[in-house]
Amino acid sequence: MILDAFNLTGNVAIVTGCDTGLGLGMALGLAEAGCDIVGVSRKPPHAAAQNITALGRRFTAIQADLSHQKGLEGIVSTAVERMGQIDILVNNAGIIRRDDALNFTEKDWDEVMNVNLKSVFFLSQAVARHFIARGGGGKIINIASMLSFQGGIRVPSYTAAKSGIVGITRLLANEWAAHQINVNAIAPGYMATNNTQQLREDAARNEEILSRIPAARWGTPEDLQGAVVFLASDASAYVNGFTLAVDGGWLAR
Ligand code: NAP
Repeated sequence: MILDAFNLTGNVAIVTGCDTGLGLGMALGLAEAGCDIVGVSRKPPHAAAQNITALGRRFTAIQADLSHQKGLEGIVSTAVERMGQIDILVNNAGIIRRDDALNFTEKDWDEVMNVNLKSVFFLSQAVARHFIARGGGGKIINIASMLSFQGGIRVPSYTAAKSGIVGITRLLANEWAAHQINVNAIAPGYMATNNTQQLREDAARNEEILSRIPAARWGTPEDLQGAVVFLASDASAYVNGFTLAVDGGWLAR
């Protein structure tokens, strides 16, 4: 039956940046659908640990700094060692730096590209090697942005990285679909998290953004739960290389 295809009982999902905002929302959604969760974060993830174990799911934390690529293979081997397997990877961790393009520094360029694009690629590579060695496929879900489709303003490295996410999502889907690995992305619209705090605190920008969202509200972490469970489940078995916007209609406007 079709609802059974959404059931994730017995699956193990790695979620990066699992303890705040969208990552926490998606980790909880996956856990509610039946997943055990491997949470990757820089600090001990108390909220994720508490909420996920309260649902009766297993949770393990792996401390890692995704601003460099050393240790990405270790995340995969530690996850397999502790949980027995990995079925799903959600590449959620991300940062943003704001400045005029004329003043933008190489440091702000490199830091964002490292976390938002380079580590996404190399962690996906490490997880896909596990999926292929084990057989039976797997799911990779990348987090894109409205700035995967639009230029934005004052966020050059973020726009470059998130545009790159759509590209590597397609490339990896092309290379790995034959291994039953689905690689897709979710492009959240304007969501109320730390990432957008500066925008929401600027009354003029807040009003400008809100008035352009057809749904007339900022999105919430819960708004991503349906999309992430769908893309993590058998219900999306023939969905490959697609970036699904969850944006209250922003791109339709
Ligand atoms: P957030 O609360 O700031 O979450 C970002 C997460 O990434 C945090 O958990 C953070 O952990 C983690 N992270 C950052 N740098 C890291 C590093 N070097 N190593 C390991 N983890 C690191 O903001 P969010 O809105 O939920 O963002 C989640 C994702 O959604 C990001 O990829 C963001 O670009 C994307 N997104 C957000 C929006 C939006 O409107 N909010 C829209 C489109 C896309 P720490 O606590 O350790 O910093």
